[in-house]
Amino acid sequence: MGGLLAILAARLVGRPGGLPPELAYLTITSKGLSNDPPASVWLNLRRLSAVLSSFARHAGPIVVTSGYRSPAVNRAVGGVPDSLHMQGRAADIQLDNPRKTQALFDTLRSDPAVLAGVVEELILYLVDGSVSHLHIAIPIAGLEPTPTIQITRRSGGQTLGDC
Ligand SMILES: [Zn+2]
Repeated sequence: MGGLLAILAARLVGRPGGLPPELAYLTITSKGLSNDPPASVWLNLRRLSAVLSSFARHAGPIVVTSGYRSPAVNRAVGGVPDSLHMQGRAADIQLDNPRKTQALFDTLRSDPAVLAGVVEELILYLVDGSVSHLHIAIPIAGLEPTPTIQITRRSGGQTLGDC
């Protein structure tokens, strides 16, 4: 197989591991560890990506600072042992500036009813009183749990990846 067919096949396969390339932004990590999600979490990553896209349409460009985490990456960042990041259901995000991140949080929490079936966890992290990032987790497909909405305050010395 050569030429165009090879290119098409490469596109279908994507990166090693086979994750659809458009979801690769949800696998970034600064820890230098392998972080290829198993196929079992791809559907969650697709659902998560769709939710983030809808937020971006409302609030502007979103930067994902932590999405999927392999168990090793989750340990390295100090994530809780049952972190939803390991299921491909959570992302830590920032907008252009902290005020926009805060505004998105305020908008989302102002009407919890609209979050049903879309968001399971919504946690704004403040470090030394300033907005750091917003943790968003989606429910298991088909469930509509009451969202957990909270603000977590930290000092700069503490590990941030505990969501
Ligand atoms: Zn998180």
